[in-house]
Amino acid sequence: MQKRAEIPSKPRFSLATKKAYELLAELEICEFPVDPRKIIRHFPSWHLKGWLELQVNTGETDPLNLNSEKAEAKTVKLRGSGDYLIVYDERVDNIQRIRWTLAHEIGHIVMGHLVQYDATALNRRGLTQDEYGVLEVEAHCFASDLLAPKTIIRRFDFQNDPQGIALVCDISKDAAERRLKELKRMDFGYYPTENRILRNFYNHLSNGGFYQVVHNTACRFYPSVIYEDLCKYSRVCRQCNSFVTDEESKHCTACGSKIPLPHLYMPLKNISGGVFNIGWSFYLEGNHYYEMPMGKKGRLDFCPICRDAESIKDKDICEGCGTPTVNRCTGEGKELSHAYRYCPDCGAETTFKAIYDTLPERLNAENVQIPDCFEDYIECDYWQFIVMTIGYWAKELSLYAAMEDSIAFYDYEDMVIFVRSNKEADCVHKSKETILTCLAKYGESPVKNISVVVAEKWTI
Ligand SMILES: [Zn+2]
Ligand SMILES: [Zn+2]
Ligand SMILES: [Zn+2]
Ligand SMILES: [Zn+2]
Repeated sequence: MQKRAEIPSKPRFSLATKKAYELLAELEICEFPVDPRKIIRHFPSWHLKGWLELQVNTGETDPLNLNSEKAEAKTVKLRGSGDYLIVYDERVDNIQRIRWTLAHEIGHIVMGHLVQYDATALNRRGLTQDEYGVLEVEAHCFASDLLAPKTIIRRFDFQNDPQGIALVCDISKDAAERRLKELKRMDFGYYPTENRILRNFYNHLSNGGFYQVVHNTACRFYPSVIYEDLCKYSRVCRQCNSFVTDEESKHCTACGSKIPLPHLYMPLKNISGGVFNIGWSFYLEGNHYYEMPMGKKGRLDFCPICRDAESIKDKDICEGCGTPTVNRCTGEGKELSHAYRYCPDCGAETTFKAIYDTLPERLNAENVQIPDCFEDYIECDYWQFIVMTIGYWAKELSLYAAMEDSIAFYDYEDMVIFVRSNKEADCVHKSKETILTCLAKYGESPVKNISVVVAEKWTI
């Protein structure tokens, strides 16, 4: 018989976090909500079954004693194959609760609880109360860091708001409140996979993808009484599809058109097709429009016209072209977020709208002509993250200004960066070492050689 390892006397919190992060990194998970079912499907030797389903299939009245033990799920290691079978109670009428339970069960597997401490199943019978408690706490901690990884959520807009965390991570508000308390506790642990996770999640966070998640999660509660309180976090403009994320906005800040306040906001798409009116179906899809990078003091980090950081540093207007560094409502004169093209209160244009209108379409894989010699290169999907690290972690603001509207492709060790002008190309050329350092240090990238090309638009 296999000797049972000793169950730790205290929960191993850091190990649980480390294991959750490793799983997020290994599976290249890059957006919220993290889906425990998808994770389970990823492993061919893990199987997920519902308790009712198993009841029908096996003819047993209470498979795995889920009912008699009042458990919502249980995981067993199957004799013979060594596969894992996770059984959960489908009768639990709460998606968020089931998500949490499944993440918890994944925790038992990944933390090695079933292999190290019991040959078949974790149940109260085989373990003392304390032993059982320790493993439960570890699985709970793992589930928290899987569904609401601290390293990501402490970086987003809603980091101090349990309702916001609940919507993004698709967990219950209670779970989010507990999570928030946990996050406030000091943790000096460093986990080597953190950069990798942040790299993977970066596009989702910076391009507004998580606002869609928030919108969809909130809309699931339509038309219940709590819906109004949830949809204030993310509405979608019916004119331009922009996300409207300030609950008090009366106008869309991207196109200026009126947007219904949360209590009047209808989240569903109206699809009517052919002879049959399909009616209201599914949620609106939002858009995130480009935002000029903003410094700490609510001013532009660099002039978007001159693409230069020095000409604007500590000034009200750019020395080179007169661009103002602060955004205002042209009707009321008040200061507004740099992202706004229109005032959310009165709908008037902002001073920045004219600048946004002048900016050329941003470089992307479709509008840049790739020379034949780079044909086999693939687009670097974490490039935005690397550019951010150059500006804000390595604090090379001028280089950042030159690269902010760039794209990159790579083929293992070789990378090509497309920029807009010769001036920018020179700047990138001179700073290859800094770029390579950030690629290796923050991006875990294998790139060793960099070429720079001034982008040419497609000509037909
Ligand atoms: Zn458990
Ligand atoms: Zn709009
Ligand atoms: Zn300028
Ligand atoms: Zn205004």
